Amino acid sequence: MVSFAELSLTSFLADRLQQAGFTAPTPIQSAAIPLALQGRDLLAQAKTGSGKTLAFLIPLIERAVKEGWKPAGHASAQTGSSRSPRALVLAPTRELALQIEMELRKYAPPAVTSLAVYGGVPIERHYRALRQPPMIVIGTPGRLLDVAGTRHLDLRGIEYVVMDEADQMLDRGFLRDIQRILQLLPSQRQTMLFSATFSPEILTLAESMLNNPARTAVDPGVNTPTTITHAYYVVPSEASRVQLIHTLLQSSEAGEQSMVFCDQKYKVKRLAARLGGEPASVGAITGNHSQAQRERTLTAFRSGRLRSLVATDVAARGLDVPTVSQVIHYELPGNPTSYVHRTGRTGRAERSGATLLILSPQEEHEYLAMVRRLRIQTKRLTLPTLATLPPPAREPESNGQSRHDGRGRDARPRRTGERPNSMTQDSRGGQGRRGWRAGRPAAPRRGNS
Ligand code: ADP
Ligand code: MG
Repeated sequence: MVSFAELSLTSFLADRLQQAGFTAPTPIQSAAIPLALQGRDLLAQAKTGSGKTLAFLIPLIERAVKEGWKPAGHASAQTGSSRSPRALVLAPTRELALQIEMELRKYAPPAVTSLAVYGGVPIERHYRALRQPPMIVIGTPGRLLDVAGTRHLDLRGIEYVVMDEADQMLDRGFLRDIQRILQLLPSQRQTMLFSATFSPEILTLAESMLNNPARTAVDPGVNTPTTITHAYYVVPSEASRVQLIHTLLQSSEAGEQSMVFCDQKYKVKRLAARLGGEPASVGAITGNHSQAQRERTLTAFRSGRLRSLVATDVAARGLDVPTVSQVIHYELPGNPTSYVHRTGRTGRAERSGATLLILSPQEEHEYLAMVRRLRIQTKRLTLPTLATLPPPAREPESNGQSRHDGRGRDARPRRTGERPNSMTQDSRGGQGRRGWRAGRPAAPRRGNS
């Protein structure tokens, strides 16, 4: 397939794609859209930043328009249940659910209604919004189960299900919730799973949930976009780690942005403060921040008002901020999957990007073994002259929770399938570095709902 024109899309969607400057589908879009339009179940793998969102939204919008979906509750609505939405998109984090809904709103006609349903905002807001059920619900599992449990959301008419970041959705942190949600859906439905990474175990599990699925993998074996360069520094001390990050943030070009990932929330908080915090244009996002703070910070980052964002893995998946030119890993990430997804916040849509790791001498060996397995070229860089740190900022508030670091809670082993009512996202928590040694990407432990 060479152009969107050949898909003969409905005019509203075709116009919107043209306005966005998109002429040709990306490879995953070329592969997935026709299969999705045929009604096939789908297991789709393609690297970060390769346009997976539109690969599932385009067929969804097409179907809504061509089939003339009516608002739920309308007399001629589908047979399953007149109060039920028709499509459900599941995502592991609130910000990703919001982003997918924003993307849907860009391309869908206003008559195709939607709602993002996610935790951290007053549930009454969703109760109210769901009085007029939307055609498409995009949400995180915990909150979806809450509103379904109180019968504010009827899922019996869902015909079309998408799991974005599906390997994380089927990992132990979310699996029980996903199974519960699937039980609320009709068995006659189309289910499509998308991710950049699938471990063999998750693939087997995924297939068991699908009906004769088509499998499509773009560039199998390529884990990160080739437009991203990988490099690392070895630092002698903790102090030089922070100073180096400050130096790297300072050296990025005007209009370019950076993301810095740490494994634990307390490190994010401490690092953002030592880099000068918001007065120095450095924002922070962790599961300890209130949802309002998280959304404010991400909006400020998307708008460019904040040049840098320090985060845990809560921001590692799916977020699309095209101006992110470098991803810095404060330390060796807990597992290769985390490395792939964090790194994938740059180099979106074939743009160039850089990923930089700051390692202790002990971490270097482990890192080099990992890049060999991921078939990534990397190089060690010599330390630049380090810039002086700005005055430290007051540490950002953390939603009334402990000013320490939440490590006590994160260290607690989570029961399989335990509901994600807290928003832990410290991938090193229970899983440790097992994923590196096993030689195979292990999915990060948890998202949040
Ligand atoms: P993924 O989910 O694969 O990580 P996204 O769906 O977030 O990737 O898309 C990455 C970027 O590519 C987004 O900014 C999106 O607008 C852009 N994009 C999507 N489809 C196309 C296309 N056909 N041509 C050019 N850019 C595209
Ligand atoms: Mg995505």
